[in-house]
Amino acid sequence: MFIGDGDGAGIPAELIDFGRRRMPCHGSRCAALAGEIGRRAHCSVYRNRPLVCREFQPGSEDCLMVRRKLGLQAA
Ligand code: SF4
Repeated sequence: MFIGDGDGAGIPAELIDFGRRRMPCHGSRCAALAGEIGRRAHCSVYRNRPLVCREFQPGSEDCLMVRRKLGLQAA
């Protein structure tokens, strides 16, 4: 979800769901996520990633919840 007018600026149009004002997903995977989860994954729009992504902290309760949901061990 994009918050405010400038959020998401610089992200290629093909990686934006303009109707929902968010990044599109393929299943549970963000369209901007490149590589293999749990091995060598990265955000392909890291420098321009949305605010909600900037505020998501590695190791936080939300992060641990997602890792559990995906069957990954705590980092
Ligand atoms: S940081 Fe945000 S934009 Fe980047 S891959 Fe993850 S969910 Fe997608």
